Amino acid sequence: MNVEIYESAKYPGGRCRSFYDKKTNIEIDNGNHLVFSANKYFKNFCELIGSSKTLKEISPNFFFFDFERNIEWNLDLSSGYTKFLTGKKKLIPNTKLFDYLSLLKLFFVSRNSSVFEIVGNSKIFKTFWEPLTLGVMNTAPHLASAKVLSNVLKETIYRGEKFCRIFQPKINWNESLIKPAVTKIKKNGGLISYGNLLKKIKVSNNNVSELFFVKKKIKLNKHDRVIFSIPPTNLSKLLGNCSLPNQYNTILNLHFKIKPEDIALFQQPIVGFINSITQWVFIKSNHLSVTVSNANDLNSIDTEQLIMNVWGEICKYIKKKIKYENVQIVREKKATYVQSPNNINLVKKFKNIPENTMIAGDWTQYNLPCTIEASILSGKKAIETI
Ligand SMILES: Cc1cc2nc3c(=O)[nH]c(=O)nc-3n(C[C@H](O)[C@H](O)[C@H](O)COP(=O)(O)OP(=O)(O)OC[C@H]3O[C@@H](n4cnc5c(N)ncnc54)[C@H](O)[C@@H]3O)c2cc1C
Repeated sequence: MNVEIYESAKYPGGRCRSFYDKKTNIEIDNGNHLVFSANKYFKNFCELIGSSKTLKEISPNFFFFDFERNIEWNLDLSSGYTKFLTGKKKLIPNTKLFDYLSLLKLFFVSRNSSVFEIVGNSKIFKTFWEPLTLGVMNTAPHLASAKVLSNVLKETIYRGEKFCRIFQPKINWNESLIKPAVTKIKKNGGLISYGNLLKKIKVSNNNVSELFFVKKKIKLNKHDRVIFSIPPTNLSKLLGNCSLPNQYNTILNLHFKIKPEDIALFQQPIVGFINSITQWVFIKSNHLSVTVSNANDLNSIDTEQLIMNVWGEICKYIKKKIKYENVQIVREKKATYVQSPNNINLVKKFKNIPENTMIAGDWTQYNLPCTIEASILSGKKAIETI
């Protein structure tokens, strides 16, 4: 099979990429992509492109610091949730075993419920459900589909520690996913054309007959197939007249370059913050990377103030005033679409595409959150239908 890939950006990777940042003088990932060991398509893909050894596996201990109550704890999932229910694991401070029964509530949920409707009144909402929902679905719990979160729990926490471990790249996602994937494609004769936006398509007899890119036009013949692997709003522009989700949520990342001796002040690889602007801090070899999901509200606030506030939170956490050397902000305004029951229904019902085309992309796998796993699975399914 001859494969040609047309990418509008000048570089590969889309929403999961790394780049050299002049300001901080380091190569950074656009975001902190956390992958659970339950993600079998991700693991298979890494094997296929020969990058498994570039990954590190972190044990499922989620360290949290609550700014309002000034307390910290370790949410240790290293033996699955049953250990909580039998009292064999330390609980979140000031909670009782009973509070963890909300974990069972998410087992059977309807397609139309939001996470908040199911577990909004749980005592562990603020310390467990909210950070989990934001981290996994980049959508506020009152909007996020309970069904999708339930599917994630069934693949991870409900199955035990083996499925809750965390994959992170030893260096960055460029080395673990993008570079090896591009090498594999090229080695197999695939062509990749960058800076080549697909502007328009011509459809004749319910088949795409011509593709109009910024740099060239392609006439398709009878045996050609097209896979549109682009976000829903971009697809709507090409196909016209489709009902697909058009609301997105931002993920904000602040990358702080700090001195090597200051990195040692952080004991854990990943820390979750509660009752703060910062949601997660990823401790890298030469910088700290802060993630804020569902961050549309932060797009219009003063950047200097935002940096100051986030840095203040980090210093409060380590109980020491230190200085960062430089900072870079990456705002991914269309990180994922708003994964609400309504939007997911739109994707589920969407079928009206020309006969010689397929769609791929994380958003097409409506039973899963918009993740690397979903995007890899979507590509696999698209190829299998050719
Ligand atoms: C900041 C951030 C943090 C994230 N965190 C996580 C995480 O922790 N765990 C996880 O699993 N996932 C995470 N994700 C989601 C993950 O990155 C995505 O699910 C995945 O990268 C989607 O891949 P994709 O190929 O489906 O889409 P994309 O990466 O969006 O690829 C689509 C490509 O199509 C190109 N394109 C669009 N329109 C056109 C056109 N008309 N013509 C030509 N090219 C076009 C785009 O430039 C883009 O490169 C995160 C995403 C972001 C942004």
